[in-house]
Amino acid sequence: MGLDNLTTQKRTGAGIPTTNGRPAGGRLSGLPRGRQIHKTFNNIKITILCGFVTILVLRGTIGVGNLGGSGGEVENQNLIEETNRILAEIRSDGDPSDPDDPAESEINPNVTYTLGPKITNWNEERKVWLDRNPEFPNFVNGKARILLVTGSPPNPCDNPIGDHYLLKSTKNKIDYCRIHGIEIVYNMAHLDKELAGYWAKLPLIRRLMLSHPEVEWIWWMDSDALFTDMVFEIPLSKYDNYNLVVHGYPDLMFNQKSWIALNTGSFLFRNCQWSLDLLDAWAPMGPKGPIRDEAGKILTANLKGRPAFEADDQSALIYLLISKKDEWMDKVFLENSYYLHGYWAGLVDRYEEMIEKYHPGLGDERWPFVTHFVGCKPCGSYGDYPVERCLRSMERAFNFADNQVLKLYGFRHRGLLSPKIKRIRNETATPLEFVDQFDIRRPEHGGHSL
Ligand code: UDP
Ligand code: MN
Repeated sequence: MGLDNLTTQKRTGAGIPTTNGRPAGGRLSGLPRGRQIHKTFNNIKITILCGFVTILVLRGTIGVGNLGGSGGEVENQNLIEETNRILAEIRSDGDPSDPDDPAESEINPNVTYTLGPKITNWNEERKVWLDRNPEFPNFVNGKARILLVTGSPPNPCDNPIGDHYLLKSTKNKIDYCRIHGIEIVYNMAHLDKELAGYWAKLPLIRRLMLSHPEVEWIWWMDSDALFTDMVFEIPLSKYDNYNLVVHGYPDLMFNQKSWIALNTGSFLFRNCQWSLDLLDAWAPMGPKGPIRDEAGKILTANLKGRPAFEADDQSALIYLLISKKDEWMDKVFLENSYYLHGYWAGLVDRYEEMIEKYHPGLGDERWPFVTHFVGCKPCGSYGDYPVERCLRSMERAFNFADNQVLKLYGFRHRGLLSPKIKRIRNETATPLEFVDQFDIRRPEHGGHSL
């Protein structure tokens, strides 16, 4: 506070014109007297005109009533009040009911919850649709069409810094998707009010599969996960015979039955009947309230290391795949040769070492593809880690990734904690000579030299 004041004062001081320079009338002193009078008269006219315009503008912006006193303060107060009113309105549960809405049926605990009408012939229907719509192919230039899906709660975060990091995380994903020709969906709605929170991804993925038959893979990514390797691409051909790709370890799943055997912060589903069936089998523990609470007890009793809390989507998937291994596992690829999901705590302090020794494009512990801030809850209030550590680490991850993007344009961050940037290449009059060299879409050219 004191320091801030000091710099402000210093800056103001520097801006004030000094009187010990040239005399005020110095510029006029060499002119003939007639022209001098004319010029002075003109200056007075301009001054009066400016004064008049200023009064008009002030009246227009802050109103006549505010002109006399602390107009800025009143304006500020109004802004705060209006912001609070909007926030209260957004956060209130009061949902003005629409007379056209059918009455919401109460969920019956005796009937297994479903995501929607049972679909049984999606593969055939989708194939017919693809044949009839060649302008929407599921493979473009030999590459499967991927849709990256992410999202956040409908309401503002508990703290404005949470919204700031949601924005940064969104920018990070837009950058990756733009560079790699991937489409992106950002969702803020709860398509099914029973499946709010981390369960919201299930009805969303199902909906997107059905609405976008042209999409071959739906890739879910949490809002608290960042791309930290802007060059690496998912080796899709490896998964030709699989329908679900998720970061995980077979030993932790089937021998240890660990609740962190896989991570549902970043995974891919093929758009097919099998995936719709898996979503149906995964969803029943999700409905909020007693069902989710009771299911949480079953999960804690069966999964190693799981604390007691309501059923979450990750534990429910692990439990399903363990208990019905024969039914599902032949189409599930547990990926751990690169970080489709990378746990942040072991990675964010090693970025400097990575920059020194390696280069983007590796995707594994040498240059992690994704850094996921599990347990930080940047948009909520209660994470498992100290908030300063989370924010600092997210800033480092964001800038680490952003440097790879800025490099395309000849800049980089001053440091991994700094939003400020600096130039790393001089401008040139012949930019096309170097354009390929710095395009990270061509790793063979320049992507490896960060
Ligand atoms: N999410 C959402 N809508 C909500 C709440 C959460 O889309 O109302 C998404 C959001 O992208 C979030 C993810 O669900 O990142 C999972 O939650 P979180 O990351 O908090 O769980 P964690 O990874 O810490 O287990
Ligand atoms: Mn997450």
